Amino acid sequence: MSKRTFSIGGIHPHDNKISRECPIEILPLPPVVYVSMSQHIGAPAKPVVAVGDKVKAGQVIAEPGGFVSAFIHSPVSGTVKSIGPVKDLAGNGQNTVEIAVEGDEWVEGVDLSGDIVRDFPDDNAAIMDKIRLGGIVGLGGATFPTQVKLSPPPGKKCEMLIINGCECEPYLTCNYRYMLERAEQVVIGTAIIKQVLGVDKATIAIEDNKPEDIAHMEEVVRTLAAHSPKYAGITVLAMQTKYPEGGEKQLIDAVMHRQVPSGGLPIDVGAVVQNVATAFAVYEAVQKNKPLVSNTMTVTGNCLPVQHNCEVRIGTPISFVLERCGGLPDSAAKVISGGPMMGKAVSNLDAATVKGTSGLLVLTEEQTRRMPETHCIRCGKCSDACPMGLEPFLLFRFTKAGMSDELEANAAQDCIECGCCLYSCPAGLPLLDIIRTGKQQVMGIIKARAAAAKAAAAVAGQPAK
Ligand code: SF4
Ligand code: SF4
Repeated sequence: MSKRTFSIGGIHPHDNKISRECPIEILPLPPVVYVSMSQHIGAPAKPVVAVGDKVKAGQVIAEPGGFVSAFIHSPVSGTVKSIGPVKDLAGNGQNTVEIAVEGDEWVEGVDLSGDIVRDFPDDNAAIMDKIRLGGIVGLGGATFPTQVKLSPPPGKKCEMLIINGCECEPYLTCNYRYMLERAEQVVIGTAIIKQVLGVDKATIAIEDNKPEDIAHMEEVVRTLAAHSPKYAGITVLAMQTKYPEGGEKQLIDAVMHRQVPSGGLPIDVGAVVQNVATAFAVYEAVQKNKPLVSNTMTVTGNCLPVQHNCEVRIGTPISFVLERCGGLPDSAAKVISGGPMMGKAVSNLDAATVKGTSGLLVLTEEQTRRMPETHCIRCGKCSDACPMGLEPFLLFRFTKAGMSDELEANAAQDCIECGCCLYSCPAGLPLLDIIRTGKQQVMGIIKARAAAAKAAAAVAGQPAK
């Protein structure tokens, strides 16, 4: 029987999972960490420490700056050296707490043992508090604060929790390792999220290029189901290997055969999607009282003599991670944060890792070279590949011509920036680079329109003088 997959577009790039046999190693602490206040979608967090303060690992150093925001904790023990703008990986200044590392002394109450805690409380409010106070955000790329995602708006009900174990980005294997090495914690985290959402069914979706993960997760799910009825209703689903299978909307289509409407959210079709690394982070926050202060990333590249999957404290300089993983070879020309399809080029190697850093990919000059740009031959390959059913060549033309109305009418705002069009274009056109600009323009217009409508409603709602 053919495996599940999404219904529109998609591509099959070489998966290059050359780091898959590398177990997760714990990276040593750097001499200094730079903890950004903008590590999540939403308002930046507000520092609650001052220069000169002594902090411990796991201590809150910043509070949420709004409803959609997250707590941030010190990843180390040490002294706060500065608070102010520090350049991120793209070279933009972000408010950052710099901490000189003096050790690894933790706040009280965090369970640092390797014991696995399988029984969890019935009290969902207490669980949500731990997720919120633990600073948990989505680790599949979007970094949306988890407590917000687990609170469906009035009138919306979750029917299925999908745990995303697809890891469809080429080269990245840290989720693969999570499911081999930390499977039990991932399944416990899944059961906790399922209980909070009040949903009967949870599916852990894994691409079929990871048969070891599928077999191991199935075994762990069976074992935990025998341990407690709280683990009933969790299944493992093998998905076809196709990019971008792990895209939120694509995964919902593949698993539930439902389409998230344009401008809509997964909950509009009864779905909540969380990544396996997020399920692990939820386990740590709820069962071990451990906030999100580290994450696991793949450090890889064909030019690197040794590949790595490593757990890194948040705020560790990228240059330190690369050095500890053997350093950059002479042939290295570019470092990408994330995978080759959706990752972002690192222009500043002194920038620090953030909660959402899932990988560092080192590419050679030859690997970064693009084919010469020619003219569109109207072959339609970009449209065939687009998993959102868009017409990339049209969006490209409209962006270049500054035609915002046409961009919006053709749903440029729905572009998930997957790069399938760019990958497929035989004319070498920089489709994604240009469409991304057009999408930003349309998003700006939509936001401005919403703000104007809100202001007009507020004026209309004022009592007449
Ligand atoms: S980058 Fe955007 S336009 Fe291009 S294939 Fe992906 S969703 Fe479609
Ligand atoms: S894939 Fe490239 S050449 Fe073909 S229609 Fe799209 S933009 Fe034109």
